[in-house]
Amino acid sequence: MLYHSTRSKKEMVGAKEAVLTGLCPDGGLFVSDDLFNVKPDMKALMDMEYEEIVYEIFRLLLTDYSDEELKDCIAKAYKGKFVTEDLTPLTEIGDDYLLELYHGPTAAFKDLALCMLPQLMSKALKDEKVMILTATSGDTGKAALAGFKDAENIGITVFYPHGGVSDIQYLQMATAEGANVNVAAVRGNFDDCQTGVKKIFAECSDEFREEKKISLSSANSINVGRLVPQIIYYIEAYKQLAKRNVVSFGDPVDFVVPTGNFGDILAGYYAKVLGLPVGRLIVASNENNVLTDFFANGVYNKKRPFVKTISPSMDILVSSNLERMLYYAADGDCDYVAGLMKDLSEKGSFEITDEVMAKLDETFDAAYADNEECKAAIRDAYQKDGRLIDPHTACGYLVANRMEQDEEECGELGNPVVILSTASPFKFAKDVYEAIFGELTTDDGHEPDGFDYMHALAERTGHEVPASLAELKTKPILHKSVVDVDDMEDFVEDSLKVLA
Ligand SMILES: *Cc1c(COP(=O)(O)O)cnc(C)c1O
Repeated sequence: MLYHSTRSKKEMVGAKEAVLTGLCPDGGLFVSDDLFNVKPDMKALMDMEYEEIVYEIFRLLLTDYSDEELKDCIAKAYKGKFVTEDLTPLTEIGDDYLLELYHGPTAAFKDLALCMLPQLMSKALKDEKVMILTATSGDTGKAALAGFKDAENIGITVFYPHGGVSDIQYLQMATAEGANVNVAAVRGNFDDCQTGVKKIFAECSDEFREEKKISLSSANSINVGRLVPQIIYYIEAYKQLAKRNVVSFGDPVDFVVPTGNFGDILAGYYAKVLGLPVGRLIVASNENNVLTDFFANGVYNKKRPFVKTISPSMDILVSSNLERMLYYAADGDCDYVAGLMKDLSEKGSFEITDEVMAKLDETFDAAYADNEECKAAIRDAYQKDGRLIDPHTACGYLVANRMEQDEEECGELGNPVVILSTASPFKFAKDVYEAIFGELTTDDGHEPDGFDYMHALAERTGHEVPASLAELKTKPILHKSVVDVDDMEDFVEDSLKVLA
């Protein structure tokens, strides 16, 4: 299976190179047309364990890895790192299902991909060194830092928006250990971080490679090595529903996915293309509802106010992975995609044709929750079901409930609905606590911090704080840098010394 840019088919590369480079030299994302030709025996996967499913899918999509290499990657990726027996438990919430993707080392769904990516990357390395550059809206940063910690010949540099992440997310990154890790806060928002990182890729890659023998790569959700591992849990969720006789194999299941960079939900589309009986894929956004508008009217317009919401990992106006979906919806027309992306960077917006829109409509719906609706959804899930959900998941929960109400009104009988639950509620304890119980006052009147909220939330609900979060309280702050957007390049150059 070969990969090429969404913007040109001139250069074809294998999976290893796609994993190593992350982003294509022309700024496009790696896609493969062969995706439509491989046909895993989905029905057979229903009887397999999670890691066996990983193997069966990887074997088809990452063909230049040997069977031994894949088995070794899989053996090292997940074992012992998840607190639950099932990596991704499927539980009930109202009439729907919650796919709990947050039981990994950093309590967010990105662990499922970022436990695997370093394994795939280390197998792809020959005798070079790699610096991973990552812009994060919160969760990617820590998941990448944990995944790449002390990886051989790989360094990692993480940028996050200064003041733009939760207390706990901040601590997770500021306390990250490992001899090969660098972390800086950037004075700007997530899009500024992401744009800064893209600029460094464009301007410094050649220089670093030639002068320092270090390649730059990305751990962001644009990396093929992030995307492919995320396909698996859609299959796993379906498998669980089939096991419980909620569906017979072949019955469609709808997935509601809290979305920012469109990576998680794109993996659902890949699962569908590979033959999983996926019904609708529903894009659930927060108040930064650029995707809701796009799916409603075919115009993607990033020129809009950036809203800081209580679901910061979805505070995104440039949804990178959408470019891949546009490529597939446009039947592989690279020039068309390149044109849209040019419009986006020059005019701040693009408009797709009716034909491409119709193609997207075959699979996707989109809706969003504003901050107040999101809080009400958190309260609702707790009061009705005793379930604690984080603000990202709450956007999905609200969208799913609203959709089902609409269905009831128009008399349609819906498919089973799986809501992807993307983070532990304790990671966003303050907002979750306040949504359910209102303000927290401490005994001695001090301003409550993230830990006060975490413990109060645990105490009042009887749910347990994940150990990986509780232990942050006693860890030393190791990373204190705050930089301007213009200084990101210098920070990276300085960071390269961890690879010396
Ligand atoms: C990253 C993230 C999302 C959005 O995922 P995308 O792949 O960017 O769409 C949603 N929820 C949480 C908690 C996240 O960390």
